Amino acid sequence: MQPKLIIHGGAGSSLKGKGGLAVVREALHGIVAAVYDDLLQGAAAAAAVVKGCELLEDHPRFNAGTGSVLQSDGQVRMSAALMDGTAQRFSGVINVMRVQHPIQLAQTLQTESDRVLSDQGAAELLRELNTPIYNPLTDLRLNEWLAERKGDFDKTMAGVIAEQELGAESEAGRGTIGVVVLDQAGRIAAGTSTGGKGFERIGRVSDSAMPAGNYATPQAGVSCTGIGEDIIDECLAAKIVIRVTDGMSLADAIAKSMAEASQNKRDLGAISLAADGAIAWGKTSEVLLAAYHDGHAIGDTLEWTGPELVGHIAP
Ligand code: ASP
Repeated sequence: MQPKLIIHGGAGSSLKGKGGLAVVREALHGIVAAVYDDLLQGAAAAAAVVKGCELLEDHPRFNAGTGSVLQSDGQVRMSAALMDGTAQRFSGVINVMRVQHPIQLAQTLQTESDRVLSDQGAAELLRELNTPIYNPLTDLRLNEWLAERKGDFDKTMAGVIAEQELGAESEAGRGTIGVVVLDQAGRIAAGTSTGGKGFERIGRVSDSAMPAGNYATPQAGVSCTGIGEDIIDECLAAKIVIRVTDGMSLADAIAKSMAEASQNKRDLGAISLAADGAIAWGKTSEVLLAAYHDGHAIGDTLEWTGPELVGHIAP
């Protein structure tokens, strides 16, 4: 079967500067090309998702791994989840610190009996695995945090993706990352990784490590981005996936779910794939930073700023 792939680097407010657009496009297209190559060589869906998430975590422009935003106390705490749609198994870490690739912890937990670990448990797992200590903090994020502290953290979320320099107006909002894959054997997996929404209270739990933000079955997979509380209230990833699993087409499932989210005034986005090869994306925010490979070519949603809530590519 022809593999399919879609990834995202967050959702948010308008991409205003072309410099920002070019940087994001180059990053997303490069990662799509690298992961798609692996898929053509027979990589399994879950392994391809982990690889894609690692590459996105390593890119300092995205709010996951290196370049994660800081919480209200000035610390970086990251969350990640992996869902293997074939095994129908979810695993994840919540508010983990000092690690380069949170998605790798989610991958390790796939085969454990305790599959979602939070701060202290995740730290113990890192120690057990002898994972090298890594500081994901970048100067840009630290300076953003210092600037926001002056304003008493009055933003609802950090503006994290394409700022060319500090002080410039944020060109797009959130930079959580996600990857959804359909491999040659027809298996689906989804992964999501985030530094959170930025400036949040200690202990706040992101949707990214919940089935609301990352979910898959043998029929479909979804990764979400946007304000985590909105995604949780819609139970968005699980809702879209279950609609498809119950027989709705992916395009209809995402359209119905986005219409509901829009009616409820949510600020979010989602990427998705179905077992029949359909690819779809949706947003209620202004932009969604997604790129995909449909088996023929790489495409993206970076210049999609119209009022439509969804886009899709038929199988
Ligand atoms: N959904 C993430 C959170 O609320 C943030 C994001 O998608 O950028 O933690």
